[in-house]
Amino acid sequence: MDVDVAVVGGGIAGMSVAGELARDHAISVAVLEQESQLAYHASGRSAAAFLESYGSPEIRALTRASRPLFEAGDDDEAPLFAPRPLLWLAPEEQVGELDHLLVAEPLLRRVDEAEVLRLCAAIRPGWTAAAAIEDGAQDVDVAGLFERYRRLATRNGATVVTKAAVRGAEADGDGWVLRSSGGDVRARTIVNAAGAWADDLARLCGITPVGLTPFRRTVAIVSCDMVDRSWPLVGDVAEGFYFRPEGNGLLLSPADETPTQPGDAKPEMEDVALALDRANEATTLNLRHVRTAWAGLRTFAADRNPVVGYDPTCQGFFWLAGQGGYGMQTAPGMAMLAASLIRGEPLPRALADEGFDPQRLSPARFA
Ligand SMILES: Cc1cc2nc3c(=O)[nH]c(=O)nc-3n(C[C@H](O)[C@H](O)[C@H](O)COP(=O)(O)OP(=O)(O)OC[C@H]3O[C@@H](n4cnc5c(N)ncnc54)[C@H](O)[C@@H]3O)c2cc1C
Repeated sequence: MDVDVAVVGGGIAGMSVAGELARDHAISVAVLEQESQLAYHASGRSAAAFLESYGSPEIRALTRASRPLFEAGDDDEAPLFAPRPLLWLAPEEQVGELDHLLVAEPLLRRVDEAEVLRLCAAIRPGWTAAAAIEDGAQDVDVAGLFERYRRLATRNGATVVTKAAVRGAEADGDGWVLRSSGGDVRARTIVNAAGAWADDLARLCGITPVGLTPFRRTVAIVSCDMVDRSWPLVGDVAEGFYFRPEGNGLLLSPADETPTQPGDAKPEMEDVALALDRANEATTLNLRHVRTAWAGLRTFAADRNPVVGYDPTCQGFFWLAGQGGYGMQTAPGMAMLAASLIRGEPLPRALADEGFDPQRLSPARFA
């Protein structure tokens, strides 16, 4: 196969940039995914939240730029949002952190304990010393988002190949030859959207890694007789736990961050137990019965900002990695940004209007 751009990684990062690049038919695109199933790793395991008050200033700008696409896609496709406010709780020792967040983020408003209990009757009275709410937070239809980009890419001629693990790459004239288990691919540009494996892919291509660390995060679905589906997403500001309704149960996480190797992450029983303990401390729910649990990898660079841009040392190697815990909510903005940088075009309007500086995400910052 011979294409302009070979995207390595069939998660949300790879599929969304493939969709954006294929849009104008001027660029031929192939997506290579090592698994037999797309979105098998981080992109299939998220908590599906869209939180504009979460992450670095660059993450927040990318999240804001993504909002219109979630609200209504191209051709007035159905919205991918369902409203679910975010309620930050702060026990006494976290009040300073919450105050800081309230100053930094105008979207948050302080709420008193009476309002906390009105929003979620399960919070243990007296547990939280201060609280704030982001009214516009949302649940995201992550499968719908992924499918929208997959359709956009394939309808516009992109090729998607599963069981295509890239195991070697050689520079070839003004491009690359990728050796994959699905066959060889010749491409002018490689987009490294390999998630937890992005540093490994760089090494395969003879490029210095940027220093990404995959951190395991655990999620459990627990039975909960008292659940009210209108409860917000509830978490403590220091990120010790979060929960939200999921069907007639609760989705619960200890917000763990265990550094690990790239791979098929599995939940550890002690992390699930920790989630139950922390949620039971903060609420009167007395959660006990775990229906199912999973884990996934949130992959961060040292400064916790994504890595987006051409490698400064090697022509035709583009990084789209380090999305950490924000890869769903930022995917539309990040895909537009990456596609504009790959094409050598000006920044997307939504980011330019904010004075967004793409250098803040460039891999050159690690050189
Ligand atoms: C528990 C959990 C909760 C989360 N909650 C949220 C949330 O609420 N909101 C939010 O915005 N984000 C959330 N995230 C983060 C979000 O899921 C990720 O940022 C995002 O999915 C990263 O997408 P990706 O495409 O970069 O990675 P991935 O989905 O991991 O995709 C990378 C792909 O590359 C493939 N690959 C790697 N190496 C090769 C190779 N050599 N050849 C071919 N293919 C290769 C892999 O198989 C993989 O499919 C959460 C993550 C986790 C784990």
